[in-house]
Amino acid sequence: MQVLRTDAARDVGVMPCQTTDPEVFQDREHQRLAKSLCAGCDLKRACRRYARTHREWGTWGGETNEERAAAGYLPRGSTKDYWQRRSVLPAS
Ligand code: SF4
Repeated sequence: MQVLRTDAARDVGVMPCQTTDPEVFQDREHQRLAKSLCAGCDLKRACRRYARTHREWGTWGGETNEERAAAGYLPRGSTKDYWQRRSVLPAS
């Protein structure tokens, strides 16, 4: 699991990421699968908000690193320049 520990998570019970190899939510090559698993999760919105707030890496709430960075929430330790070099953000 992506370690989403909130009251909402306790209420939902088992989330798809709890029963799936964690690498699916971390590896770029598995992003499509991770996004599809998140799409059916009741915590999708809360999870996305959590990842943005805590600047997480990986796919959270159906949102990838690239999508989070493009929305202005750079994953921890990354810089605007890093995402510009990957054409996720426009050059300054
Ligand atoms: S939205 Fe995705 S990463 Fe978040 S709790 Fe649900 S399955 Fe896990």
